[in-house]
Amino acid sequence: MKKDILGNHVYSGTISRAKFNEELDTSFILKYFAQRDFLQKNLCLPLKLIQEFDGEQGPFIEVAICNPDDIFYLALDLAKNLPRPLQKYPFVLRVCRKNVLIQTIDYVFTGQDIREALPDEDLVLDEDESEVLDLDLSSDGSTVDLLIHQIFKNALYTESSDIHIEPTPTAARVRYRQDGVLHIEQEYIKRDEYRAVVNRLKIAAGKDIAETRLPQDGGFFIKFQHRQIDVRFSSLPTVYGEKIVMRLLDAEHADMSMDQIIWDKNLRDIFLRSIETPHGILLVSGPTGSGKTTTLHNALLHLRNRFGNEKNIVTVEDPVEYRVAGICQVEAKQQIGLTFSRALRSIVRQDPDIILIGEIRDEETVNIAIQSSMTGHLVLSTVHTNDALGAIPRLQDLGARPYLIAATARLLQAQRLIRRLCDNCTHEVHDQDEMRILLERKAVPPRYHEEVLSKRIMKPNLTGCDYCHNSGYKGRLSVMEMVVVTDALKALIAAEADMEALTRQAVADGFRPMFEYGMELAGQGRTSLDEVLGLLSEQ
Ligand SMILES: [Zn+2]
Repeated sequence: MKKDILGNHVYSGTISRAKFNEELDTSFILKYFAQRDFLQKNLCLPLKLIQEFDGEQGPFIEVAICNPDDIFYLALDLAKNLPRPLQKYPFVLRVCRKNVLIQTIDYVFTGQDIREALPDEDLVLDEDESEVLDLDLSSDGSTVDLLIHQIFKNALYTESSDIHIEPTPTAARVRYRQDGVLHIEQEYIKRDEYRAVVNRLKIAAGKDIAETRLPQDGGFFIKFQHRQIDVRFSSLPTVYGEKIVMRLLDAEHADMSMDQIIWDKNLRDIFLRSIETPHGILLVSGPTGSGKTTTLHNALLHLRNRFGNEKNIVTVEDPVEYRVAGICQVEAKQQIGLTFSRALRSIVRQDPDIILIGEIRDEETVNIAIQSSMTGHLVLSTVHTNDALGAIPRLQDLGARPYLIAATARLLQAQRLIRRLCDNCTHEVHDQDEMRILLERKAVPPRYHEEVLSKRIMKPNLTGCDYCHNSGYKGRLSVMEMVVVTDALKALIAAEADMEALTRQAVADGFRPMFEYGMELAGQGRTSLDEVLGLLSEQ
């Protein structure tokens, strides 16, 4: 709980949709605050007068807001727009979700209640493809089934990629990751229901419900609007109980053409040329959630479509995230001793042409990758480094000899995902002053200022629209950098040159850092300055 300099209380927890509706006093709003435009523009809604708050005597005006970081001017503006007698009352500011707020403002002024209007398609939880568990709302399912149904529906309706169910001392909360950002969902699950939900999901994932002290992972399918969605389930014991994370892998969304993944034609040509070469190692780097798997998955689809039956394509992954017909995919299983390296040793005996290794993370795997490449195979894999050239010291740390890295590495790519501006509601362009402030606040190196300021850059619409679920962003874009391992660079790698020398050579060969590619995307109106500047602060 904190109090601002105007004496307003900021209540930091989010309020639930139900609680929000309960607090709402429509007649109070219409009597004192009938300025819909102001509320919509500033995303706030006075709820009612309260006499006491947190042991302090009021009256206070309770106000729902959705951005707790920027309340000072909002509170001031709001006070200014109130009738004089109410201006002296401090606010109790409570945070709620943006879409709930927008829908409720509509409701107050139109009387039309669309607040629960989620699409009502049937949702079916499918455990092992043969047994179908019907979780239709219309059936008299248990509370637990209804809750699970609602959680998945919220996730699918908002196009979330992950669902987090997190226990707290008294209850559990649900959060959803949308376009890479976690959003708090208002609906809290009661403690006893949480236990039942976890058990239900564990059964669906084929896991032991009695085991609560060790992490577990598994998966199941759900069917939604004639689509089948693969759900990867994992549980992790925390001090308050097991935290569940479910990743939704929508195979339809996973299949993109290479030109959707690599916007820049030049880089796309480099990438395709590299994967169509019969041997060598191609490495994709980036942190978890940077879209590496999607890029490689689509590279495999491209190769399958291009070479059809001519080539034997084999993968070893942990886990297999996207299933591809016509490709032989092996799932590494540490528990039974089927490690990456053990699976790989068998794969190289299976006459492969193209091998995808989910991740190179130990000495044996890196050596098999190098050997396979030397014996005429194409190896695609990922390494856990931040930038493209960082793959070289990483392979050395894992025990690879520099001259062997030089002999086999063909392309080093690094990538991140950034949010894409919503095509439907993005209209405004940054003016120069705004851009200058942004550049200074984000401490962008001065060498980039001129380039940034010379571009016409769109800014996100903060209130968004229906199409983008009021976020101003819709979907994500890969931003990447690529180092082609030229003969000159090979010589430096073999001679164990330092990073500075490697970078200088790469730049001479045409390498452009990821930030510059991001700026190009921003200049084309595909993403915001904020998203691109975020790439710099990460390094
Ligand atoms: Zn929009």
